[in-house]
Amino acid sequence: MYMNLSKILFRIGAKYRNPSLWNHYSELKKTEKYSFEELKAYQEFHLRKYLSYVGETSVYYKDLFQKLGINPKTITLKDFFNIPVISKSELLSRKSESYQEKKSEKEFLCETSGTSGEVLTFYRNESWDSFNRASMLRGYSWHGVKPWESNLYFWGYNTDVSERRKIRFLDFLLNRYRMFDYDEKSLFSLEKKLPKVKYIEGYSSVIYELAKLMEKRGINPKNLKMIKGTSEKIYPHYQDVVKKVFGHKIVSEYGAAETGIIAFECAEGNMHINMEGVYVETDENNEIIVTNFHSYSFPIIRYKLGDSVILAPGDKKCKCGLQHPIIEEINGRIGKSILGENKKYPSLTLYYVFKNIYLKHKVQINYQAHQTEKGKLDIWLKEDVSEKMKDLILLEAYKYFETDIDLNILHRTNFRQKSGKLRDFITTID
Ligand SMILES: [Zn+2]
Repeated sequence: MYMNLSKILFRIGAKYRNPSLWNHYSELKKTEKYSFEELKAYQEFHLRKYLSYVGETSVYYKDLFQKLGINPKTITLKDFFNIPVISKSELLSRKSESYQEKKSEKEFLCETSGTSGEVLTFYRNESWDSFNRASMLRGYSWHGVKPWESNLYFWGYNTDVSERRKIRFLDFLLNRYRMFDYDEKSLFSLEKKLPKVKYIEGYSSVIYELAKLMEKRGINPKNLKMIKGTSEKIYPHYQDVVKKVFGHKIVSEYGAAETGIIAFECAEGNMHINMEGVYVETDENNEIIVTNFHSYSFPIIRYKLGDSVILAPGDKKCKCGLQHPIIEEINGRIGKSILGENKKYPSLTLYYVFKNIYLKHKVQINYQAHQTEKGKLDIWLKEDVSEKMKDLILLEAYKYFETDIDLNILHRTNFRQKSGKLRDFITTID
């Protein structure tokens, strides 16, 4: 009998890194068949259990619950709604207070970018990390994808990137292969790999560029089961070309490192809320508020992620059979391209430039980039930095842009605010 080596390797890797992965996965495959009422009861049970734990162990929440008159042992949903909403910047400043002591349990270092360059680092306990991976794998299963199957991965600021070592490794890959390049040469080199690939994941803008190239060359791979887009807004014109060339539209996975998977698109094209992991609310401006009740090692409670979403009416049913509520639309995460003289770059490249500076020099820089002309980029800095720091920024940026873009570093204290969320890249070029 032949053994599937990729499957074995995947299982061994998972067993070592995420011992509770398969328990979470089989639980999720069981609960996905629940009725809405059963799901709601399941969700509230786990939410209460989580809040009791946090209310008794987190210094910050213990104090807050006391002030609000909440008894963690008997906490109700009504009590939960009295807990103040928290923004990302508040979370950053509150970190040392609400952060849990490192336990003997296995933990994973995570990071996420702020709205203008700050980097939040925290630990994910093993069960939280495994649950998140299991949620992702359940999403794959809706498209018939087995996790060990051959895939193409375009680097990205992905929820899966959770270990420092892994981030370094990715950076290494990045520098070496420049998979985020939009140029034809690097995408062209993937052509030979495509017939073996079962699924593609990564930036929708890069997937779009790949599809355009394959269209031009008259290639239509027939073996793909799923194309998953992360981090970036998926434009309709992307979908048209991708569907034509690969036979599938790009499915969305919605989440963040701190919230875990919030929703995953099913085969019928609806984004189902991951009710077994998160409690989703929206405020009067349709801003999403997420509670991740697996975040035992770093509490994420009533957290404003910074996206506006449109929830489907409660009675909207999906043909796929899942009773999990549907997110109709996600706004606010628009990833436009930075235009060099010869190439295009995802705007998240800037995040990497400033992240590297933060990790190497421990200097947090608030920035916003503006582009009005191809090949030229203005970088506004909130703080006045030294000439040496300016050189470091130019040096770090050079690793990505080389001489393709002229950078101009300016000291500006007033960043333009658009639609609530402070963006790190603003362009007037269409
Ligand atoms: Zn569905």
